[in-house]
Amino acid sequence: MVLIPMHRDPRHLLRWAQDEFGSRFAVVTSFQDEGMVLLHMAAAIDPGIRVITLDTGRLPGATFEMMEIVRNQLGLNVEVVYPDANELERMVTRYGPSLFHRDPSLRKLCCHVRKTLPLERKLSGISAWAAGLRRGQSEERASVEQVESNGGRTKLNPLAHWTATEVAAYLERHRVPRHPLYAEGYTTIGCAPCTRALNAGESGRDGRWWWETESAKECGIHVAADGAMRRTLDVLLEDILVR
Ligand code: SF4
Repeated sequence: MVLIPMHRDPRHLLRWAQDEFGSRFAVVTSFQDEGMVLLHMAAAIDPGIRVITLDTGRLPGATFEMMEIVRNQLGLNVEVVYPDANELERMVTRYGPSLFHRDPSLRKLCCHVRKTLPLERKLSGISAWAAGLRRGQSEERASVEQVESNGGRTKLNPLAHWTATEVAAYLERHRVPRHPLYAEGYTTIGCAPCTRALNAGESGRDGRWWWETESAKECGIHVAADGAMRRTLDVLLEDILVR
């Protein structure tokens, strides 16, 4: 049985996970501020800590600059995960490249094919992973714990209790590089067609999937679809998945 430490310092959690799981542990990141805090801590603990990111095929160019920065300045190797080419081909051929604008279920299908499924495949060889979720980021994330069990794996959210101010202070104190899109007014950074800078009066994750009003602003990696949306997604996936 894995004994989880009681202390809640993010560095201690990362060190514990690396000691406990070694190469079966990874930090999963999209190079947003919280992810960069974790990567900066990880580099100081052990430059051999595995780092995983997703190339969905729709990322902004600046995200690739961040990959180079992490490799060259933090000295971490970045493992890049890609969607399955056949699943992607079937989805885009059937629904078009901009299916995410048509309705929330097709948006979730796109996220599933480009993000959730590739990451699940990658994580099949992993026992524990860490991500940069914070409780203050959104309603959907308000109850995330620092240590969770997710799909039979240990999931760490070392910054769960940190505020945005604490993240900003850490980045400044340690001169950690930031994704260039923050300077353009973004507060969340993901795929290029689905993320934009905030408008006046907006906050948090309002710049993501801004045309949606009802569905949770999550891609499925951290918060799974449930109920009717899950059933609709399963039907859509039937046509897409290569079995
Ligand atoms: Fe597709 Fe947009 Fe999700 Fe990226 S964020 S996987 S482009 S729906």
